[in-house]
Amino acid sequence: MATTSQAYLEGISVKETKALISDLCRQFYHLGWVSGTGGSITIKVHDDSIPKSQQLIVMSPSGVQKERMTEEDMYVLSSDGSVLSEPLAKPWPHKPPKCSDCGPLFLKAYEMRNAGAVIHSHGMESCLVTMINPSSKEFRITHMEMIKGIQGHGYYDELVVPIIENTAHERELTESLAEAIKAYPKTTAVLVRNHGIYIWGDSWISAKTQAECYHYLFDAAIKLHQLGLDWSTPSHGPIHSPNGVQGSHRNAEVSAKEGLNDGIESSRRYIVLDVEGVTTPISFVTDVLFPYARNSVGKHLELTYDTAETQNDIKLLCAQIVLVRSSTGMRKERSLLRIEDEVPLKMMEMSGASMGGGSERVDNVSSPCARVYCRSVSS
Ligand SMILES: [Zn+2]
Repeated sequence: MATTSQAYLEGISVKETKALISDLCRQFYHLGWVSGTGGSITIKVHDDSIPKSQQLIVMSPSGVQKERMTEEDMYVLSSDGSVLSEPLAKPWPHKPPKCSDCGPLFLKAYEMRNAGAVIHSHGMESCLVTMINPSSKEFRITHMEMIKGIQGHGYYDELVVPIIENTAHERELTESLAEAIKAYPKTTAVLVRNHGIYIWGDSWISAKTQAECYHYLFDAAIKLHQLGLDWSTPSHGPIHSPNGVQGSHRNAEVSAKEGLNDGIESSRRYIVLDVEGVTTPISFVTDVLFPYARNSVGKHLELTYDTAETQNDIKLLCAQIVLVRSSTGMRKERSLLRIEDEVPLKMMEMSGASMGGGSERVDNVSSPCARVYCRSVSS
């Protein structure tokens, strides 16, 4: 154990670092990163005369209300993780003080990366982004301005963040976190599936800045996925690569192919004409766009169905969504027309009369804001 002078331990730098952590915890609580007593922060106590590897460590306690912490609640550890000073116990209903469960994981970032600060966030976006593809071992994104905020990365670079599997207890993550740090020498973060993220930097400012950029990028990725766009490619185009993070769209394509190849003789088929997205208020979509589409699309198709422009539009829509064919009535059609999304599907409803001209409306096929218009075509 490194010897620590009493002056350093009781000095102003330790006091200021404790105050800084309670201040940051309050900020991060309001960002949703450390709510429900989850998440944690640790910062090394900077002193120009002491090598970083030997500097004291201040760590937030475990199981406390993060937005109400004060400097008296903090732990001070030596560089090897021994507790040098701990908070006093508080009366009921407070639990006895306990150092952060993340301690062993924080120490790995300190030891293996010479970090100056580490943030553990339970931010919703850092959790959800690991769940879109449950078998993915990495999060990858490129061509996003905020990638520049991640140490060692530029706009055109691909940011790769390893994902490790969650465990029942935080400390059990230590080994897999260390393996990820070793396997990804460029990374400054490790995602934990269904849980959150560990982010480190040379200083608390670097760790905080990067944490903000990571959360922004995860949020962007989730939103791009909801829009059916692939965040992992430079163009951020529609998801159709089996290598990207897949979900609804690949399943829809597979379902469509299965539907077309299952040997059912079809007398009718449905071409999906449009799916309304999530970029306008649902009331505008429901009250304005759908009535207009219902009133106009049948006539429009009848008048222009054989034109190159309409055929091209139909082709583009089919390429994005799904082509379904069935001859066994509505029940079968429902089972074939599966367009899955991260939002559970509601049952579709057919109302053929409303579209006119043989076109039909299929409601509530995809997410709450998405509906699909179909035109039935004799085959
Ligand atoms: Zn945690």
